[in-house]
Amino acid sequence: MSGAASLQQGLLLVLNAGSSSIKFSVFDVQAGQAPAECFHGKIEGLGGAAYFIAKAADGAVVGEHRWAKGASVDHQQALVQLSEWLSPRLEGRPLLACGHRVVHGGRDYAAPVLIDDKVLADLEALCPLAPLHQPHNLSPIRAIREHLPNLPQVACFDTAFHHDQAEVVAQFALPQSVTQAGVRRYGFHGLSYEYIASVLPRLHPRLAAGRVVVAHLGNGASLCAMQGGRSVASTMGFSALDGLAMGTRCGTLDAGVVFHLLRELKLTPEQAEHMLYHDSGLLGMSGVSNDMRELRARADEPQVRLALDIYVHRIVREIGSMAAALGGLDALIFTAGIGENGVATRAEVLEGCRWLGFKPDAARNAQNGPCLTEGDPALVPSAWVVPTDEEGMLARHVLEVLAARGASN
Ligand code: ADP
Repeated sequence: MSGAASLQQGLLLVLNAGSSSIKFSVFDVQAGQAPAECFHGKIEGLGGAAYFIAKAADGAVVGEHRWAKGASVDHQQALVQLSEWLSPRLEGRPLLACGHRVVHGGRDYAAPVLIDDKVLADLEALCPLAPLHQPHNLSPIRAIREHLPNLPQVACFDTAFHHDQAEVVAQFALPQSVTQAGVRRYGFHGLSYEYIASVLPRLHPRLAAGRVVVAHLGNGASLCAMQGGRSVASTMGFSALDGLAMGTRCGTLDAGVVFHLLRELKLTPEQAEHMLYHDSGLLGMSGVSNDMRELRARADEPQVRLALDIYVHRIVREIGSMAAALGGLDALIFTAGIGENGVATRAEVLEGCRWLGFKPDAARNAQNGPCLTEGDPALVPSAWVVPTDEEGMLARHVLEVLAARGASN
């Protein structure tokens, strides 16, 4: 049996590791079929008394573990728990590979890649570009290499989808030496955007070739302008701090504010960074929560109302900017937690986008779409809800990399 064929049946593990949580999905791979998710779950609260939960595809809880109060659970311990839970569920099927969401691929990594010593060293060298994310993405890779050295591991990058944006879009107005040192726009949420681009042809033929803005509105949030399913511009730039106001991140900020925080308010760089990443956005503005459901439930409180209005205003303004980058707009797509479920947020964003030709349909919006607007999408701008599937995209990429490796063996 060739390497490619023998790799076609078994299970795939995909990991999305952050600073305080590891999300995972397990996919069943059958020859000639798309990978089917059989389990998903997460370990959250890392650094403290963490909590592990695993669910079957139908949402039924199939594994749970809570560490004792006072525990300080690290990524390594979390992976041991995951591995102990997963082993009996393999039921004799081979674990084919592990795929990882890696936030930064830099200028060199524009596609998913099989991890070896050189790749890992290159990705470690990119940590200064994403110090709050990249080290956490890489730590499970190292742990798995140590314990399962023969398991193929694949890195899939959030930056890759934006890799081919034009220089005029990607560069800041900074001295050339700084640009050459890697200070430029990279864009993020690429796996989510890539998945959405892959389903556009099924949604409507006009969208696959057209000018589309995708609004990924989760805890992190960004917009991507796509032309023909390719990234033309994005609101996230050098870091995951740029662009829209988010759950706890400030989004676009006059760079002068940072100097003011350091010089006049006497914050250290670490304190300023913590404030902009963790204490700002919806949480900072409202003083209540970063959770959209809680904010909508308390929207009659003036400070909460203002935070929601600012959040929506920033989305509407940036949609205008994305439309300018595209030279017009054929469709707007909402995805991720708020985009897929936030009826009120979508209604307010669409109201603010009427000038672009959208005619919101309140009843369709209340049902979560998929189409949210009146009129024929072939003739007038349309808006849609499309659930994203970053884990499914990771699984597809892992299989592609394994197949390419098998073919070259
Ligand atoms: P992450 O970036 O962590 O993956 P998600 O995509 O899960 O985040 O999005 C989380 C956000 O989605 C939270 O603000 C949450 O309140 C919001 N959300 C989830 N369900 C709903 C809902 N039914 N209505 C409004 N907002 C929702």
